[in-house]
Amino acid sequence: MAEKRYLFTPGPTPVPPEVLEALSRPIIHHRSSDFREIFGRCLDRLAEVYRTKGDVLVYTSSGTGGMESAVSNLTRPGDRVVVVSAGHFGERWATLARTFGCEVDELRYDWGESPTADDLAERLRELGGAKVVFTTHSETSTGVVADVQGLAAAAKDAGALVVVDAVSSLGAVPLETDAWSLDAVVSGSQKALMSPPGLATVSVSAAAWHAVEADSSPRYYFDWTRARERQAAFDPAFTPAVSTLVGLDVALGLLLAEGLEQAFERHARLGRACRAGVKAMGLDLFSPDDDRSAVVTAVIAPDGIDSGELVQTLRDRQGIVLAPGQGPLKGKIFRIGHIGYYDAFDITTALAGVELTLSELGAEIERGAAVTAALEAFEHTRV
Ligand code: PMP
Repeated sequence: MAEKRYLFTPGPTPVPPEVLEALSRPIIHHRSSDFREIFGRCLDRLAEVYRTKGDVLVYTSSGTGGMESAVSNLTRPGDRVVVVSAGHFGERWATLARTFGCEVDELRYDWGESPTADDLAERLRELGGAKVVFTTHSETSTGVVADVQGLAAAAKDAGALVVVDAVSSLGAVPLETDAWSLDAVVSGSQKALMSPPGLATVSVSAAAWHAVEADSSPRYYFDWTRARERQAAFDPAFTPAVSTLVGLDVALGLLLAEGLEQAFERHARLGRACRAGVKAMGLDLFSPDDDRSAVVTAVIAPDGIDSGELVQTLRDRQGIVLAPGQGPLKGKIFRIGHIGYYDAFDITTALAGVELTLSELGAEIERGAAVTAALEAFEHTRV
């Protein structure tokens, strides 16, 4: 039999069959009425998922392109910005902002810690304010989902713009672009939006547009103003990843048909199931043991087992693809992603594979307990 793969990474993620079908349709031209209809619907659906009445710009790039667009459109060299970082992707904001010449103050936590609004408020007080605060909603490298609502309120109180990396969280955990006054929210097609890699999405608030008009760094491809003008006519400035957009339109339709609140609840239950299974086999969690951790479950590898070796062995022997640890967590943790097109039986597949492979590698773990614990936990609705 052809080798089967089971993808449990926090991006890219599996794509529903309806989306795969859409991806296989003949290519349409991006300056045609066929495209305009799909693009227009896709933008409307994105605004619904973002919960915004403002603009959502779409770029053909990975999520990092969307992040770069926020830095280049909202800052100019010498601007003071604060970056809240507690892992790999928070640190990416700091690198990007430094690259564009910003004076970066990093509110830096150890990987795995949860940033707090109080710490941010205090730092902004000490600094006497900042132009922009860059934050990460779901820190995919650690499994922590931050209290972006609280962080945003602290940033706004200090008069700063607030930019959120929601690449791995949009569509999986609650995020309210307008109600939380988020000035720019960046996401990507290949995560909870159940589409292939290739598109970055960025919401832009009215306050952010004021800042864009005031001044900025050099930019061309990622110029927000041109993107907005051209999107208004459903006529993108540059050739977009047409097929990925066609797929994203279908995927967003599926997400909205499920209902955003229902999708958030499903993700919370998936996280709960995964954590229950991990604990039942006797492993320790690295990500927080709470319902907010609905994106990726990070697990500490048992003593004597290198998590990278576990991930590689799982892939080689069983076709199960998990994510290893990054940066200081390399070799120490492994991560099970559960955003987008997942149900309880995906979680049990991943857990059963981990159980089997760990025991083959000689770890002392409880065999046979994880699947039952996961299914039981999945059944529980929010308490
Ligand atoms: N931010 C977060 C939180 C992510 O999870 C990722 C992708 N893993 C990125 C940014 C970067 O996205 P991309 O790889 O699409 O550039």
